[in-house]
Amino acid sequence: MLKIAYDPIYIHPLPAGHRFPMLKYELIPAQLLHEGIITAENLFSPGLLEEEIILWTHDSGYWEQLRELTLPPKEQRRTGFPLSGELIEREVRIAKGTIDGCHYAFDFGVAFNVAGGTHHAGTNWGEGFCLLNDQAIAANYLLNNKLAQSILIIDLDVHQGNGTAQIFENNPHVFTFSMHGANNFPFRKERSDLDVPLADGTGDDEYLSILRSTLPQLIAQQKPDFIFYLAGVDILVSDKLGKLALSKAACKMRDQFVFEQAIKHNIPVQVSMGGGYSPDIKDIVDAHCNTFRIAHDLYF
Ligand SMILES: [Zn+2]
Repeated sequence: MLKIAYDPIYIHPLPAGHRFPMLKYELIPAQLLHEGIITAENLFSPGLLEEEIILWTHDSGYWEQLRELTLPPKEQRRTGFPLSGELIEREVRIAKGTIDGCHYAFDFGVAFNVAGGTHHAGTNWGEGFCLLNDQAIAANYLLNNKLAQSILIIDLDVHQGNGTAQIFENNPHVFTFSMHGANNFPFRKERSDLDVPLADGTGDDEYLSILRSTLPQLIAQQKPDFIFYLAGVDILVSDKLGKLALSKAACKMRDQFVFEQAIKHNIPVQVSMGGGYSPDIKDIVDAHCNTFRIAHDLYF
């Protein structure tokens, strides 16, 4: 069964100015329900997470500043959010949703978090609307519980997964692969195990051919027993931040290729959504729903 982490808290988490980027978390499940791809049974509400698990990834001083809402103003501005108890709770639930998703991925091959992909959060910093790094927290959870030994993080959001790269910089059990816009945020990049920076205006053929020549080789080398996939749709030509030029069809082919590789090698995949900033919300929702649609076709 296709399991999707979703919580009603996503609907009203933030002040008005931050509402737009949050709207998709309501619209994606609504669209999938409308199409009949899922029923309420496919959605689950993640709970909270033990602090200990957060501290396997994040610095205790940083976590305390989040929990106590005492993050210094400059660092708060870097996150892009006004800090609030609700916001922190939401971030913790997102991370729990990704961990739960890992368990479902072991059962069903693939599982989703309708949010997540908070890849700019590093060990001791938050940045770019990311406070806690959901897939990094889940990766450390799998390692510490001996549920996986060789993890591959495939980050195809248009922005570099700088937080994820930093967190696993010296960890031989997690391979970080980030394909991203070379001239895009974050402007000071960290070093992933494999970075593929793309020129502005990169289109369908070039993007897909790079992915097709890179990913199978990586899987052959690393032999991962678990994959995290960050499926940002800010690579679309319509995206106002992305600077790349992919069509929606190519974005779906990207997702299909990742899933086909995972299926071929029988590797469970947890998917977090990541970014999407097309001016028309329909484009964002449609491209994200494509990731679910293709997973539904291939797995279920
Ligand atoms: Zn992004």
